[in-house]
Amino acid sequence: MIYASTRGEAPKASFETILTRALASDGGLYVPERLPALPTSLAQKPYEEIAAEILRLFAGDWGRDKDFSALARESYAPFRHHPPPLEETEEGVYLLELFHGPSGAFKDYAMRILSRLMELVLTESGGRMTILTATSGDTGAAAMSAFAESRHIHLAVLYPKGRVSPVQERQMTGLAASHLHALAIEGDFDDCQAIVKQLMSDEALAERLNLSGVNSINWARIAAQIAYYVYAAGIVPDADFAVPTGNFGDILAGYAAKRMGAPLGRLVIAANENAVLPRAFETGLYAPRAARATLAPSMDIQAPSNFERALFDAMGRDSEKLRLFFKELEEKKQAAIPKEALACLRRHFAAEEIKEEESLRAIASLYQKKGYMMDPHTAIGYAAAKRRKRDGKPIIALATAHAAKFPDAVRRAIGREADSLALPASRRPAPFAAAKKMGLKETPTSLAPRASLVRAYLLREMDCAA
Ligand SMILES: *Cc1c(COP(=O)(O)O)cnc(C)c1O
Repeated sequence: MIYASTRGEAPKASFETILTRALASDGGLYVPERLPALPTSLAQKPYEEIAAEILRLFAGDWGRDKDFSALARESYAPFRHHPPPLEETEEGVYLLELFHGPSGAFKDYAMRILSRLMELVLTESGGRMTILTATSGDTGAAAMSAFAESRHIHLAVLYPKGRVSPVQERQMTGLAASHLHALAIEGDFDDCQAIVKQLMSDEALAERLNLSGVNSINWARIAAQIAYYVYAAGIVPDADFAVPTGNFGDILAGYAAKRMGAPLGRLVIAANENAVLPRAFETGLYAPRAARATLAPSMDIQAPSNFERALFDAMGRDSEKLRLFFKELEEKKQAAIPKEALACLRRHFAAEEIKEEESLRAIASLYQKKGYMMDPHTAIGYAAAKRRKRDGKPIIALATAHAAKFPDAVRRAIGREADSLALPASRRPAPFAAAKKMGLKETPTSLAPRASLVRAYLLREMDCAA
């Protein structure tokens, strides 16, 4: 499998290269030159086989001698419930529970696969690596747990100070290991992401530390997420999907699953009040503003990186058009999506903005009706699913985090603490609850939002150690 940059100016690359080099040198994102077709009846196989087969399709030659089935089994072994439970909450409306992994969010699905793939590459090459990633909370928590046992990798996680939940912060700062670094940045998620982008494109630094990323721009993460769409579409074919969306990685996996032949209906982008995409779908103007802090911090994103991949497809995979779009965006801070591209996007996707009160009401109402507790991210997907439910067509909302991870929001919605009792006994939380017992490191390292400061930190901490 060959990968090319959406911006069309970086050299093409193999799977093992893009595993460790998420962002292309021209600032674009790697995409497979051609999406492979799924084998027929793949959805009927055990989950691990679905995941392994999809990895095989994307890994190309490098994957020939790898046991991806074992890798998937190992990745998901600590999940409390696996494969992901699919709950029908009312007729034709489902929740796909993706939060039973160690960090209590769906990101465990992809991150645990990615950490193992990266270790394989480094074991083969004998090299070492520094992973740098921006997080609005859950990526960092999932990465810390996924890389806790890595032997060839340093992990540095940048999160917006004061904008992640205390459980998330403890999950990031509480694991004591000299190769794990949590950095609180005095800014918002977009600041963190901009710093990571800037440092990654600093070639000297990237080479010195062998920098890489695990953000959802990494195609291997997208590949790992395709599996649960294929799996769910095997159980409820032709369903629409409502996906709580931040950086657009999760929903992009759904789009890829559909393009590869899985029977999926429409993909509903469920956004919180950082509604850059619902506005763009309505008006055709992509106009990011400053991100606002909401009760669903993992979705407080105004520059959804992975949208570039969907846009690239919608533009007929025309890199020049895409470059013009981003040039306009850089110069004017907003850019028009060309008409045909917008029409193409609207064929596959719909977009809904769910305001804070509506998601709180959704949490309260499902709790009153069924005793089921949703986290504020899931609630946004669920509210969008209810709004977009089409007659006779099932809709699956992705349940992306466990309610106990966001106790303040849940308390606001229903007047009591989210706890493990929110789910039937068979669905109690995964081992992530252990994070509650972890202490914070005395003072997490905190830095002003400047790339130069983070750069200095990395060089100080890792250069010699690495
Ligand atoms: C990361 C995250 C999202 C957003 O997913 P993207 O792939 O960034 O769109 C939604 N909900 C939760 C709980 C998350 O952790």
